[in-house]
Amino acid sequence: MAKKLIDLEFVSCDLCGSERFVERYKKPDTWLWQHDYEFSVVECMNCGLVFLDPRPTNESMSQFYPHDYHENRDSKIHHERYKNQYSYLGNINNHGKMLDIGCARGDWLNFFYDKHPYWELYGCDTFSKKVNYENITFTNAPLPSCNYKSNYFDMITAWAVFEHLYEPIVYFTEVNRILKRGGSFIFLVTNSESLYGKYSDVEDIPRHTYYFSEKTLLKYAGIVGMNVEEVVYSNEIFDGRGYKNIEMLFRRMLGISYLAIKNKRINRLQSLTIKLAHFFDKLLNKINLEKNKPTGIMICHWKKT
Ligand SMILES: [Zn+2]
Repeated sequence: MAKKLIDLEFVSCDLCGSERFVERYKKPDTWLWQHDYEFSVVECMNCGLVFLDPRPTNESMSQFYPHDYHENRDSKIHHERYKNQYSYLGNINNHGKMLDIGCARGDWLNFFYDKHPYWELYGCDTFSKKVNYENITFTNAPLPSCNYKSNYFDMITAWAVFEHLYEPIVYFTEVNRILKRGGSFIFLVTNSESLYGKYSDVEDIPRHTYYFSEKTLLKYAGIVGMNVEEVVYSNEIFDGRGYKNIEMLFRRMLGISYLAIKNKRINRLQSLTIKLAHFFDKLLNKINLEKNKPTGIMICHWKKT
């Protein structure tokens, strides 16, 4: 079968509008390997936002999501994740309205429903065609097209969703519009200022298009007028440790490309160096250097004031 072409588009900074960037690194889609093309991850020289540029257009991006990407999330391992997510919600009233952005098949919302059956549940997802539960009011559309009422929700969640967006500022603005005053927005994103985000090349490229940090999120919150209540750095929901920092350091120093490794075009010395790097990376992981603050996953709690 012939390979689909990638339609690429250049973007300006979503946070400040600047077009002055420096390249951080390049990485191909090492998960699906449909193409050898190396995508560029850039950092805005003005505000520090990190993102993919150029990126596949919206139409072209669908080839990077296999058809079963959102399925099978009702398993035991996911239930453990939902338990962890739940611990970040804080005090919950008996009644309320909750929205999960990027809800997939609705398993997280249903987990919440088991504990709070008097809440009204809403979910939206661009890619998922339906949810598996009748207690969820579902919309198969991106958030800005859902037309929810203003000041409507008590709580909005988004778990590992905002990395995938095309215009985060539009989503943050919309979240602020549809939340009630005093309502909470709890979301999980990767941290671009961690070893994971900066050196280890762990980001899921090109499916991850934006890489946030505490600093850039504070600027987003200021623009849309929301209050940052808390930022927690944690590896409990997803592991945000950069587990191959030394390997990537060695690979950069020796100029060993992703393609060279994929096509096994490395010599014995390079292969030995990578093995040595694995050893040091394992050691680093044992020390658990990134247990808290520098880790690659942030759980953020914002409030509408
Ligand atoms: Zn910027």
